[in-house]
Amino acid sequence: MTTAPTASGVKGDHEYEYDVIVIGGGSGGLAAAKEAAKHGAKTACLDFVKPSPAGTTWGLGGTCVNVGCIPKKLMHQAGILGEQFSDAREYGWKLATEGHDWSKMVEAVQNHIGSLNFGYRTALREKGVTYINAYGKFKDAHTIIATKKNGQEQEITADKIIVAVGGRPSYPDAPGAKDCCITSDDIFSLPEAPGKTLCVGASYISLETAGFLTALGFETSVAIRSIPLRGFDQEIAEMIVKYMGEHGTRFLRDSQPTAFEKQDDGKIKVTFENTMFGNTFEETFDTVVCAVGRDAVTEGLDLKAAGVEFNAKNGKIPCVDEQSNVENIYAIGDVLDTRQELTPVAIKAGIRLMRRLFSDTPYKEKMNYDLVPTTVFTPLEYGTIGMSEELAVETYGADNIECYISYFKPLEWSVNHEEHNGVAVRGDNKCFVKLITNLADDERVVGFHYLGPNAGEVTQGYAVAMKMGAKKSDFDETVGIHPTVAEEFTTLEITKRSGIDASKAGC
Ligand code: FAD
Ligand code: NAP
Repeated sequence: MTTAPTASGVKGDHEYEYDVIVIGGGSGGLAAAKEAAKHGAKTACLDFVKPSPAGTTWGLGGTCVNVGCIPKKLMHQAGILGEQFSDAREYGWKLATEGHDWSKMVEAVQNHIGSLNFGYRTALREKGVTYINAYGKFKDAHTIIATKKNGQEQEITADKIIVAVGGRPSYPDAPGAKDCCITSDDIFSLPEAPGKTLCVGASYISLETAGFLTALGFETSVAIRSIPLRGFDQEIAEMIVKYMGEHGTRFLRDSQPTAFEKQDDGKIKVTFENTMFGNTFEETFDTVVCAVGRDAVTEGLDLKAAGVEFNAKNGKIPCVDEQSNVENIYAIGDVLDTRQELTPVAIKAGIRLMRRLFSDTPYKEKMNYDLVPTTVFTPLEYGTIGMSEELAVETYGADNIECYISYFKPLEWSVNHEEHNGVAVRGDNKCFVKLITNLADDERVVGFHYLGPNAGEVTQGYAVAMKMGAKKSDFDETVGIHPTVAEEFTTLEITKRSGIDASKAGC
């Protein structure tokens, strides 16, 4: 493996057409291409979207904008608004709820995405990046064959090549999966309402999708073959599942779909196997959304032609500071092996890499993948930074960590006493915070967990403190903003070890 690049001044000092070609116009690729051009590098950016098996395709901007974060957050918001009707009634608003119009929501969301696609094209043009709507493939380490939609091929060369091709949803290895099921590539532009839906998988995408579909009024089930939200704090993962269950999502635990079959009426018959006992059962759904992980789309890139090593299991590219084993070839974003699949990670890595490569200043900052905050946008949102309790116990030992916890109910929820099917819309003590500290390091906070409304906003703020190495005493020193949910972190006193009830009775 070669060492990380720090040199600048490579612009034009070579025999190639471009200083840099970026393959992939998603979160990472666009950020990288614009940054390179900003520093005077002659830059080309290729982007090409292959239709999903269900035939869905989209414009420039990659996963986040078209089939990921943006439509997901907007549909999550649509679901949250539904719950807020209940709040509004209790606050005195007189509302005539007419139900939800799926097609109208899809049209509004897609219109917004269309404007973003247009904005990205304009931004590339304004920054002087050559945008090529073509599929890129390596001929050698400096040459890319760009194939347009009409099959026309063009060879382009560059001194440096950035692979930013991202990933696409995978399908379960079960008969009928590709013919019968859709994925996150399709759900956000589905013209007709999905009806009775099964979400397969138990991580971010499945739970987020099931959350907004349930909130929009669809009969929604989730098939979990093992545990929910693997890698996340399991105490909180189970609280999310419980909350979603109470609010209408049905969970099929220990259940793995083994076959999908389209019926004459268009519905899908799913055969499940119980992963504990091996028995099988069947059920029919209008729509099945598979959210069983994502594969890096390096298969068509011919990485071998350029000598780039990749992980045979998932197609991802192992790198050191985004540099592959081939000196002039780099990778950023979801295609990078063992790194977080998150938009801000792809963007920051792309920008920093381009500054290191092309800035005229001696810029050396590398991407730091530690303590990356993230939020799962389930109906009760979950923001987290650092270690789960399981990982902290494994790393430091149970006796060497402290877990400070508190259950609470946001003030804004407190005037809503409505119930649906005997369950309070805004129940007591459904929200939760947990700070995990390392006792051997003066109680430095190693895990931050927040379950409640606006988790992304709360967690983003505390992420700075975590990056600065905050200790429990720093949280204690901080004065809260009252009345907020985020102030909960400034008054934490009850430890799990104490066994004291951490539920709240009042403000
Ligand atoms: P992408 O954005 O996937 O871009 C890659 C681009 O390259 C695509 O346009 C692709 O078509 C193109 N391409 C591929 N191969 C070629 C080729 N050979 N030639 C030319 N072009 C090619 N992250 C968050 O931070 N927050 C969230 O809330 C969030 N929600 C998500 C919800 C869903 C449903 C999904 C699927 C993802 C979500 N993510 C979220 C993850 C986020 O979308 C990705 O981490 C991010 O988009 C990765 O950016 P990227 O640049 O690596 O790849
Ligand atoms: P994921 O995190 O890889 O999880 C895949 C899920 O599918 C797991 O629950 C897994 O169960 C299950 N699974 C795998 N194969 C299966 C099969 N054959 N049958 C049934 N279940 C199966 O995938 P993801 O949810 O698709 O998310 C991909 C990435 O996108 C995430 O890592 C995340 O970084 C990003 N993302 C981020 C956000 C956000 O920031 N809010 C939102 C969405 C996505 P096991 O645990 O048993 O393997």
